[in-house]
Amino acid sequence: MATPIDTLTNETVDLLQQMIRNQCVNEGTPESGHEDRNARLVRDELDGLGIDFQTFEPEPNRTSLIARYEGTDPNAPSLCLMGHTDVVPVSPEGWDNDPFGGELITSADGTQEVWGRGAVDMLNVTSSMLVAFREIVRSGKRYPGDIIYFAVADEEAGGVLGAKHIIENDWDAIKSDYVLTEYGGTPSFTDDGTTVLLTNGEKRGAFRHLEIAGSPGHGSMPYATDNALIKAAKIVARMSEYKVAPNIDEMFRDRVRSLGFDAETERRLLDPAHIDDVLAELPLGMARNLHSCCQMSFSPNVLNSGDKDNTVPDHADLMVDIRMLPGEDDDDADRRLREIIGPDLLPSVTIHRKYDDEKRGPAMSSTDTPLWSALTDAIQIAYPDARVVPSIVTGGTDARFFRARGVPAYGAGLLSNKVSFAEFQNRFHGNNERIDIESLKLTTELWLNVCERLWI
Ligand SMILES: [Zn+2]
Repeated sequence: MATPIDTLTNETVDLLQQMIRNQCVNEGTPESGHEDRNARLVRDELDGLGIDFQTFEPEPNRTSLIARYEGTDPNAPSLCLMGHTDVVPVSPEGWDNDPFGGELITSADGTQEVWGRGAVDMLNVTSSMLVAFREIVRSGKRYPGDIIYFAVADEEAGGVLGAKHIIENDWDAIKSDYVLTEYGGTPSFTDDGTTVLLTNGEKRGAFRHLEIAGSPGHGSMPYATDNALIKAAKIVARMSEYKVAPNIDEMFRDRVRSLGFDAETERRLLDPAHIDDVLAELPLGMARNLHSCCQMSFSPNVLNSGDKDNTVPDHADLMVDIRMLPGEDDDDADRRLREIIGPDLLPSVTIHRKYDDEKRGPAMSSTDTPLWSALTDAIQIAYPDARVVPSIVTGGTDARFFRARGVPAYGAGLLSNKVSFAEFQNRFHGNNERIDIESLKLTTELWLNVCERLWI
């Protein structure tokens, strides 16, 4: 007997609350994260069900867990449900409720929401995947392919101690034919019907370290000195003013069309001559997302220079976060970077590529797969007239390590009509992160319905 969905939704709520309270805050240092707390929670939840699981701990307390429920046919494709268990830090003063309380709070309009860091990125998905996985195991239902639940550490710091580590060192343990992970499933409702955005690709990072050279001098006589910090500041200013011609392709058009703008706004957003003006009028979360979805972006994020406050610095180090659209490569990024720096400053700058060791796979997964069809069918159970549209994520997710191995990986989930796309974007790494119960129900159901449809 299958468990009623309301019972399962309650299980997702309860698990999400526990995962939030476990505070697996990843500060980007090996000592932070403490994902062993969430790994232990997952292990306890799966205990006694008679399935195999394996844990990985490349550094103390940085635990990832893989549980596998075997299918009936060793040749059938396997499906990995991957959820990261870490979250990013918070600024508590910006929150209306305890960011690690995991409280269930009823909003002014009567919506019940679970509050806390990770409620949308991505403990909502991680907890609902666990509930769906456990329900399948508990019910004794067997599908042809293996179903793998992967609770992974360290996504928020690039997966070095999580997905990247396991995939590079122990591919056999996690090997799968399809992957579902964050994020997607925001519906928008317009006169033309309902559109749900899932993700099948992401922008790729081209992080750069610029070493900027100057000449030392006495800080008391700055006139006409060769100050590396001033050069760095000029580069930063040029970067902030640099304009990239937007790439208005079919995927971007679909994204814009799915957001329910009025006809005039939509027309201007799709017109390279007017997009900048419209972006300036939109809510910031929406504008930032759309801006990044149609161009390579440059964000100067760290600047260090000099050693002493009375000495003109002869060196500066500038770290730049560059994100490339699918189809763009490292050479494109360097070409634009040189353009930004300009011929006058270029002789003083050495450009270093960071993360060069990372095996780059395709930025996009094809949607011509049984899994994409299963997702579409499953979403149409909740939103019968929905058009399911592929899109890109502006940041990086662990999906990229699977894509590098040729495995189709999609960002999915399913949200209620309570969360607009712009609001959803703002909650990622933002203040007052929270998710409504209806969305948790829809997402839990989605995984179960996908499994029902993938192997038919
Ligand atoms: Zn995430």
